[in-house]
Amino acid sequence: MLLKLDNIGKIYNSNDLLTIGIRGVNLELDYNEFVTIEGESGSGKSTLLNVIGANDTYEEGELYFNGNETSHYSSQEWEQYREKNIATIFQDFNIIENLTVLENVELALLRYDDIKLRREKAKELIKKVGLIKQINQRGSKLSGGEKQRTVIARALAKDSPIILADEPTGNLDVKASMEVAALLKEVSKDKLVIVVTHNPEFFVKYATRRIRVFDGKISEDKIITKPQDNSDIVSDENINPSRFHDLKNIFHIGLLNYKSRPKFTIMMTFALFVCSITLFIILSYFSQSLIKPVTIDLDGAGVSGKVIVSSEEPMSQNDLDIIAGNSNAGFVLFDRSLSEFTISIPKQGNMLRSCDVICIYDPYKYPLKRGNAVLEMPKSLERDSDVVKDTFLKADVGIERIDAKFTLDKENIYMYLSYDDLVSNGKQIMAINSTIRINHEDAVVYKFVKNSSLQRGEINILNSLYYKSKGKEVLFNFKADKTYKIINDTEHTKDVQGMIIEMNSEDYEEMFAIPDRVLQSTLYYSSDKLAAESINKLNDGFMGMLSNRQIYVSKAGVVFTTNVLLYFALIIISILFGLLIVVIFMRSVKIYQADFAVYRTLGISRKVSSRSLYIQMALIYLPTMLLLPIVSLIATVFPGSTMQIITIGNYFFIELIIFLIVEAVAVEFNKNINSQSIRKSLKRGSK
Ligand code: ADP
Ligand code: MG
Repeated sequence: MLLKLDNIGKIYNSNDLLTIGIRGVNLELDYNEFVTIEGESGSGKSTLLNVIGANDTYEEGELYFNGNETSHYSSQEWEQYREKNIATIFQDFNIIENLTVLENVELALLRYDDIKLRREKAKELIKKVGLIKQINQRGSKLSGGEKQRTVIARALAKDSPIILADEPTGNLDVKASMEVAALLKEVSKDKLVIVVTHNPEFFVKYATRRIRVFDGKISEDKIITKPQDNSDIVSDENINPSRFHDLKNIFHIGLLNYKSRPKFTIMMTFALFVCSITLFIILSYFSQSLIKPVTIDLDGAGVSGKVIVSSEEPMSQNDLDIIAGNSNAGFVLFDRSLSEFTISIPKQGNMLRSCDVICIYDPYKYPLKRGNAVLEMPKSLERDSDVVKDTFLKADVGIERIDAKFTLDKENIYMYLSYDDLVSNGKQIMAINSTIRINHEDAVVYKFVKNSSLQRGEINILNSLYYKSKGKEVLFNFKADKTYKIINDTEHTKDVQGMIIEMNSEDYEEMFAIPDRVLQSTLYYSSDKLAAESINKLNDGFMGMLSNRQIYVSKAGVVFTTNVLLYFALIIISILFGLLIVVIFMRSVKIYQADFAVYRTLGISRKVSSRSLYIQMALIYLPTMLLLPIVSLIATVFPGSTMQIITIGNYFFIELIIFLIVEAVAVEFNKNINSQSIRKSLKRGSK
């Protein structure tokens, strides 16, 4: 005996209101039976079918399947039972409207690994139900009869011994109803077919048994023809699924879901994209000020083989020469402040922007003669090179010739200087564009000139907007230990550029003198490796550090903490975005609930259908992943754009956050989709 219902009862409990679905049902059903169930609305026909089909649980009695009890089944065992034995056909069709006939039927054939075989079988069945012409039509475009025939093809594809049909002709016209009835009969050989119907007239000539339900009980059970001997029916076809069987199906269904709900897909893709772009904008605009590096290079420019030596006691040039000799340094610079400094050039004339010029001494790269310098600029700033050159040449600091080179790979502007110029005029070069403070106002100095007629402590300011400042006290930013007095009022003239300071010769010497003893100097070796080796050989009392070595910024701890807090804030923002996306998602739960219920009636396991959701989400996420770098790049290089390019780290931060949002939402979505019984899900979805 295929099925035996022994005193089965089903009680519904909604809001503490108990309703009897069916009670005390005793039935024996077997292969080769074509059973119709009739009865008034609300009498329990659907309940009976749902219990047999395991779309719903039963509370009383025992259902025997092939002679075995089922009341102890776990939900997983029920899943297997459904997968192997049950094919269902409903009144409201339950095909997935956005998939084609072929795709719908193939869904019931996922147990076959071979895609070709699957296709072949599906086509065969579609031919059988007479839909070969509509094979590639979407479900939504089919007529009611065609939909029901698709569902029958799908039910057949499952090749299960039990076919359950709940009012399969309820929504069909007479002609389609008759066709569907004939079709059901045709496929009923060697199977148990149970049809619930209000229209027995379509089925009378096929039925082998007619059952009538009244008030949850069997009121009539009439056997018209006895089923044949069924002992020779062997139902199990042997399929050995490959190792990746489930995985393949997960991908297959994920892709189908992605395709079948274009509106949802587009909406979600868009939402994710907006979310990622917002994060990009935040990071791009604020990353310079938001997240600060905790370590920096000891020197910014990164000359290789450059070592900063410090000593406990101030050292003299002689001390330095000895150290250099002992450690095989190729070159030395006594005053370390001259080895690397920056000069700012304000925007003037038709310059593209103001710029900072890093002045450095790199003897292995450019062994320059006195009076010569090399300017290295990004190609994009070529137009500004003349202004930069002029600034240095007109400052009268010993530089007479500047060769400009343009590079594509560097962003900074470098001025390489010669040893002789640095030693004799280094402080003056540093003083280009230094500032003086007059009455709490800063003014930029362009040039210093000796004037022997001035007394010590006196200066003149030429060509200045401060020409009416006679008698005022003045402070120089790079020599802040002495004040000077302005002696003359001088006119502001157009032919001299910038502010020129005339000062007493002795003051001048004093201001630009290189000290006798310093605390830090610079040694140059031909490579970092050599430099690193030499550092260890320094005499006692001296310490050397490679200039490109990373050091902690001051208050590194605070910087680090702030960084952590800011990242935390970003994560909060992301979570808010996540919530927004959750809301969008949850509005779509219902349509997916119906689809997923259909999958389950087709025997697609919960595991496979849930996991397919992650694949679908990953697909939805894909455009964002690909577009974000492109869009962010365009935004940054777009002329006039003030966007900063974001670091790789921040880029991955965004990608990771979005990915986590997507998958977290998928988890939540999943819970909601699978939280209900098939019966409820189908009901909801069909509305
Ligand atoms: P039929 O299919 O014969 O029209 P059903 O099997 O759907 O009848 O319903 C049988 C009885 O169970 C009815 O009284 C109905 O109100 C009740 N019922 C069905 N589904 C539910 C449910 N989900 N919650 C509460 N009562 C239900
Ligand atoms: Mg019903």
